[in-house]
Amino acid sequence: MSKLTIAKLGNPILRQAAAKVDPREIRTYDIQQFIDDLIQTMLDEPGIGLAAPQVSRSIQLVVMGCEGEDGFPQTVLINPKIIFYGPELVENWEGCLSVDGLRGKVTRPSVVRVKALDRQGKSMDFEATGLYAVCIQHEMDHLIGKVFLDRMTDMSTLTQIHEFNKYWQHDPVPVI
Ligand code: ZN
Repeated sequence: MSKLTIAKLGNPILRQAAAKVDPREIRTYDIQQFIDDLIQTMLDEPGIGLAAPQVSRSIQLVVMGCEGEDGFPQTVLINPKIIFYGPELVENWEGCLSVDGLRGKVTRPSVVRVKALDRQGKSMDFEATGLYAVCIQHEMDHLIGKVFLDRMTDMSTLTQIHEFNKYWQHDPVPVI
């Protein structure tokens, strides 16, 4: 397995819409190896989610996973679609592996229902809440060329990490 290089804000690939993965290609060595490398890179950073465009491959594939109390299982989503957004909105601090050193508050629906293919190419259909729902929406934004900064409604919450730790929160915010 190899660690992949993270594309940072300003890299045009982060602003492109990613192409669908041909379901017949999911089980190929190339895609399976890429998924393993993406997971390894996410764990090494560390982050709780990583989208293929963030490592300069513009395809609709994301990985995520987070241990601990608010955590969620390791998940691979290929060609994901959100088919339902819950009516309630929640505000969370977000950070991004492609946006070094910044945190900002983003408001998103608290529940999403997702359809996608898994790494075996099987259909998944599930509902996610809490951090899982935030992570899914953040990652899927990467597939349409958006970053969390575009989703911020109040730019006055944009905070550098040092000041964030000092003034806002002492627990680290997971970066996605
Ligand atoms: Zn991100």
